[in-house]
Amino acid sequence: LFFRATPDSYKLLLLSSTLTLSGASLVAYSDRKQVEKKKILLLGTGWAGISFLKDLDLSSYDVQVVSPHNYFAFTPLLPSVTCGTVEARSIVEPVRNIVNKKRGEIQLWEADCVKIDPANHKVLCRPAFENDPVANQDFSLQYDFLVIAVGAQVNTFGTPGVSENCYFLKEVDDAQRIRRGVIDCFEKAVLPGLTELQRRTKLHFVIVGGGPTGVEFAAELHDFIQEDIIPIYPAVKNLVKISLIQSGDHILNMFDERISSFAEHKFLRDGIDVQTGVRVTSVSDKDISVKIKSTGEVCSIPHGLIVWSTGIATRPVIRDLMQQVGQGERRVLATDEWLRVKGCENVYAIGDCASITQRKIMEDIAMIFEVADKDKSGTLTVEEFQDVVADILVRYPQVEHFLKSKHLRNVTDLLADPEGNAKKEVDINGFKLALSEVDSQMKSLPATAQVAAQQGSYLAQCFSKMEVCKEHPEGPMRFRDGKHHQFRPFQYKHLGQFAPLGGEQAAAELPGDWVSVGRSTQWLWYSVYASKQVSWRTRALVVSDWTRRFIFGRDSSRI
Ligand code: FAD
Repeated sequence: LFFRATPDSYKLLLLSSTLTLSGASLVAYSDRKQVEKKKILLLGTGWAGISFLKDLDLSSYDVQVVSPHNYFAFTPLLPSVTCGTVEARSIVEPVRNIVNKKRGEIQLWEADCVKIDPANHKVLCRPAFENDPVANQDFSLQYDFLVIAVGAQVNTFGTPGVSENCYFLKEVDDAQRIRRGVIDCFEKAVLPGLTELQRRTKLHFVIVGGGPTGVEFAAELHDFIQEDIIPIYPAVKNLVKISLIQSGDHILNMFDERISSFAEHKFLRDGIDVQTGVRVTSVSDKDISVKIKSTGEVCSIPHGLIVWSTGIATRPVIRDLMQQVGQGERRVLATDEWLRVKGCENVYAIGDCASITQRKIMEDIAMIFEVADKDKSGTLTVEEFQDVVADILVRYPQVEHFLKSKHLRNVTDLLADPEGNAKKEVDINGFKLALSEVDSQMKSLPATAQVAAQQGSYLAQCFSKMEVCKEHPEGPMRFRDGKHHQFRPFQYKHLGQFAPLGGEQAAAELPGDWVSVGRSTQWLWYSVYASKQVSWRTRALVVSDWTRRFIFGRDSSRI
């Protein structure tokens, strides 16, 4: 209104429109740069997904994340949440906090991916707010690269009644539900009007599955009941029972047998009833039917609460993808050693939702031997053999971990006769056999946070270096022959595993077949798990929860 047209104002107008235009061209340029960025779509914010996000160069890609939870949960401490040793909020960190700390930017949608369409580079998602009348519309997303890190779901083995009557221990919500369930059992058992048998039934806690999670939960529950519950519910002191049912011959059978037998003896002393060689056939709201494998006898056990922890199964969305890419016959989604999903393009899978197949490696190794064995005698001199092994280790460093552990002994056996004298020639068929054992070990990388985190980090590094590799296609020295992938294959480094056994005792199996059990190992567990937290905030919360527990005990309120 107050603008008066003067020659100067025309100049100003001209200048400002020039600036606006150059601004527009700047915007257009930055838009172009934005467009040039490839789109990575990540499904899942668990161990694999978060370690991928943490190590990815976020500025080089347009990153979108879909997960039904907007947080990362430190699953190894879930058993501690079931009894209030640590609080649920102490083991979770918002994904946006993690990304903010990297000064990065992502788009995160709280939704489930319900369908992957690899042919059209598209996924369909369903918001995690079923009951909201507005925020419940399915939406689809395009990708240039898809990283699947959706983990796995609980495996019920189709046992009737399990889904309806058992508690699971997989998510934070599950752990909180168990915590309330345990307290409920005690509150119900002390109500007037119940017979002693009814009280006993309410206080019979059954854990199905003698793997690390089942064992750790049994130990936590035992400590909680002995240290914090019995003193405040003295009337039912002698009615409580914990049973651990395991279909195999031993609990913790993936650990060294010294650990598994230490755990069995400790549980025996603690009064935890460990039943091995027993298979659950069905579950109802009142009892659990089991079959004793050795005798075939079937019996029924009344229960107050059952926690089902027998392993993991593939999620429906992954099953559907497997059907589409010709993997319908497999149990788990297969990737190659670079974590690419077999049968589709630009799709990667990491963590519990996938498994690496090594068949190609074994074929290559067999071929290297065929070539080295020029006279086709089936033997090589020791020097030739050592050269071939060195060549294999350069090409396939992931084999080294296994050769350096138990399997190295097999190789040494091949090089010396039973009296220990060095052989002049080596039977290469024997070595191939030893490697096929390595192959079967490698196929079954354990479904652990350790594997998932290492895979996420490996894949992020590959993505972050992709541009550099395009500029320098000759690649690292060992891959210059042009026949190999530009990146080294994924190589798992096993750093050991823990099993907390309650009563301030833990067992640990560390690299180099080193086994440690007892109180000092529990302190090692405390330090490792504190150091592995994703942020200083959760580290401080977890350590303060442990301190609170030492001083005041666990809280038994039912909230
Ligand atoms: P997860 O960590 O399960 O993450 C999967 C992610 O995908 C989650 O964010 C989930 O919300 C999301 N998601 C699920 N469905 C969809 C979908 N349809 N669309 C999009 N996103 C989806 N391992 C160890 O090494 N040491 C331990 O001490 C240990 N203790 C454990 C204790 C318990 C109680 C449990 C349950 C597991 C434990 N594990 C331990 C195993 C470890 O937690 C898993 O191996 C690890 O979480 C696997 O990581 P992941 O990223 O593949 O899957």
